[in-house]
Amino acid sequence: MDSAIFLASLFLFGLNITLLVLLFNSIIIAFSQKNSVWWKHVLNFANYTLMIVLAYYSFVSTGGEVGSASLTTLFPYIISLTIYLLTNILLVAVFFLLSATDRIVPILKDMFKDTITTYTCTLFLSMILVILINAQSFFGLFLFSCISLLLAQTFRQNFKLYKAVSHKANIDELTGLNNHGYFKEQLELELFVAMKTEATLCIAILDIDDFKKYNDLHGHLQGDELLNEFGTLLKNECGKKKYSVARYGGEEFSIIMPNTLLVEAFSFIDNLRKLTNATPLDGVEILPHGCLSFSAGIAQWDKGYNSAELLNKADQALYKAKNQGKNHVQFYNQQSEYLTQQSTAN
Ligand code: GH3
Ligand code: MG
Ligand code: MG
Repeated sequence: MDSAIFLASLFLFGLNITLLVLLFNSIIIAFSQKNSVWWKHVLNFANYTLMIVLAYYSFVSTGGEVGSASLTTLFPYIISLTIYLLTNILLVAVFFLLSATDRIVPILKDMFKDTITTYTCTLFLSMILVILINAQSFFGLFLFSCISLLLAQTFRQNFKLYKAVSHKANIDELTGLNNHGYFKEQLELELFVAMKTEATLCIAILDIDDFKKYNDLHGHLQGDELLNEFGTLLKNECGKKKYSVARYGGEEFSIIMPNTLLVEAFSFIDNLRKLTNATPLDGVEILPHGCLSFSAGIAQWDKGYNSAELLNKADQALYKAKNQGKNHVQFYNQQSEYLTQQSTAN
């Protein structure tokens, strides 16, 4: 809404008044959002100033007349809005480059997709505002402000709802971990980042050993409880390394380990296995190893692998770990086709 007001003011009253409106607006926001650090307000003000100045000069240089409120030739309006939008995206790109994030490309792509509708909406709103102010200056402005406030409130509610729904769609209800679908999405994103930055990446698939026996003896409800406790353990340990963990399905779990070499991944998963063995949990003494245990397969991403191939390699290593008596961690070795290292139980 701010942008619609700035643009309408730019088309009707020119640059100086618009910059004054921006200044007042920024002062009000700075006082109403005292929790934000001061430099963010200054940066925001500087960004808007640049966007407004460039939009103004592109408007007048393509034949736009300030104050004429003539919408018969849309060209200057569209050009100035496009410049406003591109400057915004460029400033965000500079910000991300300075903060050295490696996700710049997907973020900018998403941002462009998301903002194109918002900015088209902004252009239309600014034009409506120009017409309203031109016809009924004070009443027009009053009407527009009321509609803006109501729309902003509705958007806020919808956004809250959207966040709640998308969180639910990504989370496995029983364990509170990411679900299979979200894991796949995240894996694609991490592979993209690893490819662009030439970083290493490993994944692991974990499968609880003899879980059926536990269910058969203690019932499904207690089985669910055990899955939940194991999920919490995984979440805590992966959280420490900023690894992402998901419930892959049933009693299987998957872990994405970005910027991690195979040897580091092996050591992490094997320590996790030992910690799981040592964690006191209800009823696990009836299991063949006398404790909760899992088997795991690890694969390191290499150029040319897609996500399905990577998962398949981790799965092959898991199969081998099971065959070696369970409570083992194995990694896939591309040179010797299989297998390499075997963890010593406990
Ligand atoms: P292995 O060591 O070979 O992996 O043996 P296992 O018994 O763990 O594997 P199997 O595939 O034979 O059985 C998996 C069991 O996991 C069977 C299924 O009932 C149980 N399971 C899958 N999802 C759930 C769940 O959400 N809750 C509970 N309680 N059990 C589940
Ligand atoms: Mg299984
Ligand atoms: Mg199992």
